Amino acid sequence: MANILIVEDEEKIARFVELELVHEGNKVKKAFDGREGLDLALLEDFDLILLDVMLPKLNGLEVLRRLRLEKETPVIMLTARDAVMDKVSGLDAGADDYITKPFAIEELLARIRVALKKRISNEVKTHVLSVGAVSLDEDRHQVLVNGEEIELTNREFELIRVLMKNKNIVLDREKLMNEVCGYDYIGETNIIDVYVRYVRTKIDDKYNIKFINTVRGVGYVIKD
Ligand code: CA
Repeated sequence: MANILIVEDEEKIARFVELELVHEGNKVKKAFDGREGLDLALLEDFDLILLDVMLPKLNGLEVLRRLRLEKETPVIMLTARDAVMDKVSGLDAGADDYITKPFAIEELLARIRVALKKRISNEVKTHVLSVGAVSLDEDRHQVLVNGEEIELTNREFELIRVLMKNKNIVLDREKLMNEVCGYDYIGETNIIDVYVRYVRTKIDDKYNIKFINTVRGVGYVIKD
């Protein structure tokens, strides 16, 4: 059983999703605009938030951005069909996943289960990984370079975590995409190249080190 917040101004959709979630044994609260959603999300500790992008008063991306300043509550964004920018911005702003409207309820429920499972498995792990000047604390969800904390999105963090866990092993884009974006993620594997580029800007370029190595035609590796 999970405590879930739905932020969605289309009351019919919100009501429908609520019924399904309650039917599966979850506790659900609803908010019909961004302001109300953000207030509730900050006030209460939800296990998961379903967050529509197009919302009155405060849009979903802005709600997410402000939420992330305070909390790591898992968020699944509800985006309009073909709104690629929304997806990318949502993931950059720290969303855990997104689903395109109109969606099949089974798909949404499956994504919710994945997001909740990921949260639980994250809670169980307790490790600090380190390679050269870089160390990653899984508990604190923190990456330090020379003792300095690096600001990362969830997916950038996840990319570094997977590569560090598999130190000296070359991982291909497909494998990285599954690990970073989830096995049910549907999209191009070159999304990984985008995240690698972001990480290199924040770590390799800034600290003048060779952190993530490209293996041409294969994928990426972090070496000792
Ligand atoms: Ca809407």
